[in-house]
Amino acid sequence: MDIIALDKQFVANTYARFPVELVRGKGSLVYDADGKEYIDLGTGIAVNGLGIGDEGWKQAVVAQLDQIQHTSNLYYSAPCARLAETLCKRTGMEKVFFSNSGAEANECAIKAGRKYGEVQKGKEYSTIVTLKNSFHGRTITTLSATGQDVFHEHFTPMTDGFVHATANDLEALQTLVNTHKCCAVMLELVQGEGGVMALDKAYVQAVAELAKKENLLLMIDEVQTGNGRTGTLYAFEQFGIQPDVVTTAKGLGGGLPIGATLLGAKAAGLFTAGLNGSTFGGNPVCAAGANYVLSKIDETLLAEVRKKSEYIVHALTGAKGVKAVTGMGLMLGVECERDASAVIAECMEQGVLVIKAKNKVRLLPALNIPWELLEKAIEILKEVCAK
Ligand SMILES: *Cc1c(COP(=O)(O)O)cnc(C)c1O
Repeated sequence: MDIIALDKQFVANTYARFPVELVRGKGSLVYDADGKEYIDLGTGIAVNGLGIGDEGWKQAVVAQLDQIQHTSNLYYSAPCARLAETLCKRTGMEKVFFSNSGAEANECAIKAGRKYGEVQKGKEYSTIVTLKNSFHGRTITTLSATGQDVFHEHFTPMTDGFVHATANDLEALQTLVNTHKCCAVMLELVQGEGGVMALDKAYVQAVAELAKKENLLLMIDEVQTGNGRTGTLYAFEQFGIQPDVVTTAKGLGGGLPIGATLLGAKAAGLFTAGLNGSTFGGNPVCAAGANYVLSKIDETLLAEVRKKSEYIVHALTGAKGVKAVTGMGLMLGVECERDASAVIAECMEQGVLVIKAKNKVRLLPALNIPWELLEKAIEILKEVCAK
C-alpha cells in the first residue's frame, strides 16, 4: 500500500494533510517521494529554524547520542543545565522548566500563574486573562486558554479559570481584571494561528503596566515567535517589556521536540521539588540540539532575518492580488485577493511550500534561507497571487 493510503487507514484522522510525502531535504530545499524539489517556506511550522540537516546541528546531536540519549530527571545532565543558563542569560530570566512541546510549556506557565495567585492573594485568585483569537495549545487546559470557541467544541467541560479579552483593547482587559479574581495575563505578541497578527506595541506596554499594578504575572507565549523568528531572540525584546514568564518550543530544538518555560524574578521561586515534572523534559539530545541552535542565533543571523523580512514585505506589499502583509520578522502573513488555500496549492505545484493561518498565506522560512532561494520563492508566490 502506498504511504498516503497507509497513513489514511492507520493514523488518526486529525490532520488535513497535503497530498505530498516529504522524504528528505537540505537547508531550505526539500524533496518528496517522487524526487520533486520544493523551496521550504514553512519549516515544519517554524521548527527547522536552521533549515534541514544543518551540519553543525547534526554534529551536536550525534555527539550527544554517542554519550547518552536519555537520563531522566533523577540525575544531572550538562546539556540541560547549559541550555537553561543560556536561556536565562540571554533573556534576563532566572530559571527554566523543560518539557517537550509548546502546550506543555504553557501548562507549566499556567501552573506558575495559579501558584502565584495563591501565594500573593489567596487560592481564589486563579483566573488567567488571555486574548480572543489566541492559540496556546491542544491540551484541555491550553485549549481553554485559547480564545477561539471553535477549539472548545466537542471537548467541554473546559478547564475553569480563563477569560478572553479582545486584542489591543486595554479597557476590555482592565474590565476583566476588575470583575474576576486574576493571577496572570498570558498573550502571544504575534498571534500566529490567529492569522499572523502582531499586537500594538503601546497596548503591550500598557498591559505590562496593568499587570504590575494589579500584581499579575505577565506571561508571554513565544512558542512560535521565539528563537529568532521575529528578528530578535525573543519577540518581547521589540516591545520594550520584561515578562515574568516566557514559554517557547517550536524552533528551540532545531527539529527535535523540546519546550521551555522561562521564569523571571517573580516566578522563579514558585516551583519546589515535586510541583512539576516531565519524563523527557530537558532530554540531553534535544537540549544539545537546542544549545547549538541558540549558539547560531547571534546578532549577525538576526540582522539577516530582519533584512529578509524587509525584502519580503517590500516585494509583496502593493503587489497585484496582495491585500496586506502582516507579522514580524520571518513570521509573515499574506492576505491575498484569491483564496489562501488555492494560492498554497498552486505554490506547492510550482515548488514552493507555504502554509495557512486563518485566511492568510503564512511564511515561516528558515532563518538562514539563502537569498537566491528566498527571491525565487517570493517571485513564484507573487505570480500566483497575481493570477
Ligand atoms: C504551536 C503553538 C503552541 C502549541 O505548541 P505544540 O508544540 O504544538 O504543543 C502554543 N502556542 C503557540 C503560540 C503556538 O504557535
